[in-house]
Amino acid sequence: MSAIYNFCAGPAMLPQAVMKKAQQELLDWNGLGVSVMEVSHRGKEFIALAEQSEADLRELMNIPDNYHVLFMHGGGRGQFSAIVNNFLGDNGRALYLLSGQWSSSAFTEAQKLAGEAQIDSLNIVEKHNGLNAVVIPDLHKFDADYRYVHYCPNETVDGIEIFDELDSPWPVIADLSSTIMSREIDVSRYGLIYAGAQKNIGPSGLSIVIVRDDMLKLPTLTQSSIMDYRVAVEFDSMFNTPPTFAWYLAAEVFAWLKSIGGVASIAEINKQKAQMLYACIDANPFYKNGVVAANRSKMNVTFQLSDESLDGEFLKQAQAAGLLALKGHRIVGGMRASLYNAMPLEGVVALVSFMNDFAAKHSK
Ligand SMILES: *Cc1c(COP(=O)(O)O)cnc(C)c1O
Repeated sequence: MSAIYNFCAGPAMLPQAVMKKAQQELLDWNGLGVSVMEVSHRGKEFIALAEQSEADLRELMNIPDNYHVLFMHGGGRGQFSAIVNNFLGDNGRALYLLSGQWSSSAFTEAQKLAGEAQIDSLNIVEKHNGLNAVVIPDLHKFDADYRYVHYCPNETVDGIEIFDELDSPWPVIADLSSTIMSREIDVSRYGLIYAGAQKNIGPSGLSIVIVRDDMLKLPTLTQSSIMDYRVAVEFDSMFNTPPTFAWYLAAEVFAWLKSIGGVASIAEINKQKAQMLYACIDANPFYKNGVVAANRSKMNVTFQLSDESLDGEFLKQAQAAGLLALKGHRIVGGMRASLYNAMPLEGVVALVSFMNDFAAKHSK
């Protein structure tokens, strides 16, 4: 079988080396004669895994000591609710910056839980010469007292990424679901970072939360204990049974990333991958991308064929060539190639070669 490259936006491909190791030790983990799925999360072997994974993530992201690292249930959307319940109390207000589908979904959930009076929003995407561009006003000039400002540095559906860290007078909460560990960030600039695991970390269901200690002093609402950050901190993310198999795979992904040189190394490869694909799109009038260069996502490259009627044929031939899941999100249409950490450079080389051939055959 020739190589298969999976460009799915999520759940996304995982590193081959991790999948092989998981397969090897599926029935006999750590010499215990049973799977990691079948042991107590309170046993010393799993506790060791949990501690190592946290230490590895702290090292990979350079997380300061005054931050807690939590392994929680409920994916990215679980955190849309948790942040409201944990930080807004009865009358706290928050600002949501809107740059695409996911930041809008987070905003809608916050309004549903806290009510419209407590949740403000600000659209930060403008059209520049027909292309989407992110423009963030000076937040220091706002006459408002927010408990936090929420934004989504990488819009997975729209292919829009914000590379500069936010300059904000209020604590910043960032949904890093589709860009965590893809490039270096300064964690100390955030009040809370969260990420559903299924893009750059591991299987779906798990979410990672990195929260600054002082955020936990904000007034909370009465809420379910499993979404309460204070409870998660107190019980080391084990108030109830954590998603242990997902946690195990996340731990293996962290170890893999460390073994290949960490976030700085993968960021360099990610840059090359994205450059190569955008160069192909820009060189062929047959393809187009609707985002200004400064906000083009390195993780989720969206593009359209100039002749939409060829979409079906493009996807069919791509699949036959081993290039999977290139169909764009149903809301925006077109194509999307997700180039998360696990996607090797060769995958993008294969995709670009296919796209050049396809364009040559179908250009008039
Ligand atoms: C995938 C994704 C989510 C949703 O994650 P779920 O685990 O499905 O809830 C939220 N935000 C962003 C930016 C995403 O890419």
